Amino acid sequence: MKVVHTFEEVRDLAGGRIGLVPTMGFFHEGHLSLIKAAAESTDTVVVSVFVNPLQFNESGDLDAYPRDLDRDAALAETAGAQLLIAPADSYMYPRQHYTRIRVAGASDGMEGAYRSGHFDGVATVVAKLFAGVRPDVAFFGRKDAQQLAVVRALACDLSFPVEIRGLPIVRESDGLALSSRNIRLDGEIRGSALALSTALFAASDAFEAGERSVAVLTHEAATRLGTHSGVETEYVEAATARDVAGVETIEAEVFLAVAARIGNVRLIDNVHLNPGTGLADRGVRLSEPSILYGGP
Ligand code: AMP
Repeated sequence: MKVVHTFEEVRDLAGGRIGLVPTMGFFHEGHLSLIKAAAESTDTVVVSVFVNPLQFNESGDLDAYPRDLDRDAALAETAGAQLLIAPADSYMYPRQHYTRIRVAGASDGMEGAYRSGHFDGVATVVAKLFAGVRPDVAFFGRKDAQQLAVVRALACDLSFPVEIRGLPIVRESDGLALSSRNIRLDGEIRGSALALSTALFAASDAFEAGERSVAVLTHEAATRLGTHSGVETEYVEAATARDVAGVETIEAEVFLAVAARIGNVRLIDNVHLNPGTGLADRGVRLSEPSILYGGP
């Protein structure tokens, strides 16, 4: 596997069907599941590692974001990537940067309401990656369900010739959704973080038992979150997976999402509720401790 820093190098080296896995690095098994899926269905897997300043609305969060390119390169190679592009900030944003892409609608509620400008930053960097790498398929996690809807809308609206694939959430063995930010959860607050998935799973159980009212399901999850000390809930909301539209009754696929602060770490999680099958998609669980804690 080769580490490069420019789109020109990617286009020189990539051949056949190109799969792109956009990330901010510090890999865990969630990232690796995307890279493995890309390796199974494309000829050249390009992983991007770029901590995109445009999508951070808190400078403390940007500064504290974990980074380790050597570790990421080793893990990406093991998972089946051929190329890793790690562009510099000055390469991605070489001058005062005027162009912003805004996906109206899908960007507005939930994360968009709490993180001003976040999805404009995401949409702008993803458009740059699509334009620079020119992938045939791009892989995203359902962990960021609203982001996935924003990216689908972006690709469709701007006619990028790329297929967008969404993959299941990978969780630690106790249910906590993997996030690079989890390494900042020490001691007691690690236990509090488990409240997010516990609340979502309780609502999932109610959904699978036949409950279709969004008010009842969000109340169930919010009540459970509220009983945990150390958890500061930002929102518990449901929206359609395709358009991020609010609904009262679940008649199409919906994701039920939570965002909460645990100490100074902000976490998000969701479950997908499918009324066609009557099942909740809670993602997949690791049987071992995550590589986040042990290194490669
Ligand atoms: P990030 O590096 O956090 O920006 O994430 C890069 C990609 O990995 C995004 O498409 C995320 O949705 C995806 N991802 C992050 N965490 C997980 C997870 N626990 N399970 C599956 N995909 C994930």
